[in-house]
Amino acid sequence: MAEPDAIVIGSGPNGLAAAIVLAQAGWKVTVFEAEPTIGGGVRSAALTLPGFVHDVCSAVHPTAIASPFFRTLPLQRHGLEWIDPPAAFAHPLDGGRAAIAERSVEATAAGLGADGAAYADLFGGVVRAWPRIEGSVLGPLRWPAHPFAMASFGLRALRSIDGVAARFAGDPARALLAGIAAHGMLRLDQPLTGGIALVLGALGHVVGWVIPRGGAQSLTDALVAHLRSLGGEVIANHRVASLDELPPARAVLCDLSPKPFLKIAGSRLPASYRSALERYRYGMGVFKMDFALDAPVPWSAEACRRTATVHIGGTFQEIADAEATVASGRPAERPYVLLAQPTLFDPSRAPAGKHTVWAYCHVPLGSTVDMAPRIEAQIERFAPGFRDRILARAVSTPGDIEARNANYAGGDIGAGAADLRQFFTRPTWRTYSTPVRGLYLCSASTPPGVGVHGMCGYFAAQRVLADLGGPDTRHPTT
Ligand SMILES: Cc1cc2nc3c(=O)[nH]c(=O)nc-3n(C[C@H](O)[C@H](O)[C@H](O)COP(=O)(O)OP(=O)(O)OC[C@H]3O[C@@H](n4cnc5c(N)ncnc54)[C@H](O)[C@@H]3O)c2cc1C
Repeated sequence: MAEPDAIVIGSGPNGLAAAIVLAQAGWKVTVFEAEPTIGGGVRSAALTLPGFVHDVCSAVHPTAIASPFFRTLPLQRHGLEWIDPPAAFAHPLDGGRAAIAERSVEATAAGLGADGAAYADLFGGVVRAWPRIEGSVLGPLRWPAHPFAMASFGLRALRSIDGVAARFAGDPARALLAGIAAHGMLRLDQPLTGGIALVLGALGHVVGWVIPRGGAQSLTDALVAHLRSLGGEVIANHRVASLDELPPARAVLCDLSPKPFLKIAGSRLPASYRSALERYRYGMGVFKMDFALDAPVPWSAEACRRTATVHIGGTFQEIADAEATVASGRPAERPYVLLAQPTLFDPSRAPAGKHTVWAYCHVPLGSTVDMAPRIEAQIERFAPGFRDRILARAVSTPGDIEARNANYAGGDIGAGAADLRQFFTRPTWRTYSTPVRGLYLCSASTPPGVGVHGMCGYFAAQRVLADLGGPDTRHPTT
């Protein structure tokens, strides 16, 4: 193998984004991926039956289509096609009702009765400000390009969803807000849960909660094809056990969370930095299920068929209670469940007339409790007859999720809790840099954190170029 300028360990979206930035700058880049398939949290596979294409991790990609970096890349030329369902997401309630986040703020507000005006005021403001705040929201903490817009957004985003939702009176609007905020894997009275709801909710109106045709793997395949067109290479099935085994390079970028990073780099790190990484906290775990169905999910609320994403859990209070229970270390009896039903909009992913469902709930970190009956009961509650449509199911416990990808320690798919203490300065105040020259972190354990957007990788690679972008110090020319 020719000696690379940069080595990236891990081929998740952030690893690939970092590799692309460096390849664009003319660096020769090699990506090593431990698994036989490329993509980390952005992969698809036949997890249940032949012909059913499931997303192994991420399924719904508003942050990818909204990514200021990804949208500069010619990914469509490499086969990526976004599917934008008619509604962003739905939230069924008992009695056959549902709250719907439509593609427009106005249509959503119109469905929320007396809460419509408050919804339009809250989300309309964020949607209008989005072009001015996206660089700050999807980036590390720094002086914003538009300080007034960011200050106005930030004051609300720092609040808990508990506080933000206080101005809403009806169950549908309040449940809708809880369902978006709970993506953050925090108690709903925690600061920043308001911001999670504002950003994800606004993206539903700005870009839609899109899915890639053919599954999440299509996004990875397009990123890899583009990287290769720039001269970069990706070597799968190559687990890096220690930094010592790597060929010399100007920079090594680790698409790793602190736990696996310490394993391969620990001996090189100064004690103080090592112990800072050891103090990094992982948050909640996830218990995931994939289903092959012989028909679509039989939702009581018809509106749930107009979207790929459904938030299950009932009222604001029920979801708040479920998340608080998990945060206190116990699994919820009636968990909050995120569900995706991609085949309603992409029949290519299942045999004719058949369907797939992707669903997960939050559990305490490393939990070994079997949540399958509780997930199915929650779906059945809003879609009676669901169980009768199941042809096959695949279960991923938190342990399985970590075994497939060490970044998700204890099944924490966020690669670390994103509470106030770890949101802006993750995994330490150094963010992408380490005390070792030429060694960097570029995973979702760096800002802006969880989600498929590649912006952690983008900013890490920018840091590399700022630090080392001058003459190649490994091969001095004089
Ligand atoms: C079940 C689940 C559902 C999710 N749903 C969504 C969603 O719908 N939408 C969304 O936006 N986000 C979702 N996410 C989160 C999203 O997938 C992650 O935030 C994102 O993939 C993080 O990207 P990354 O590049 O930082 O790391 P990862 O995607 O985790 O990639 C890290 C890579 O490093 C590799 N690696 C680890 N150790 C080594 C080693 N020693 N040597 C070589 N390679 C190594 C791993 O195999 C992996 O491929 C979900 C995640 C999971 C697990």
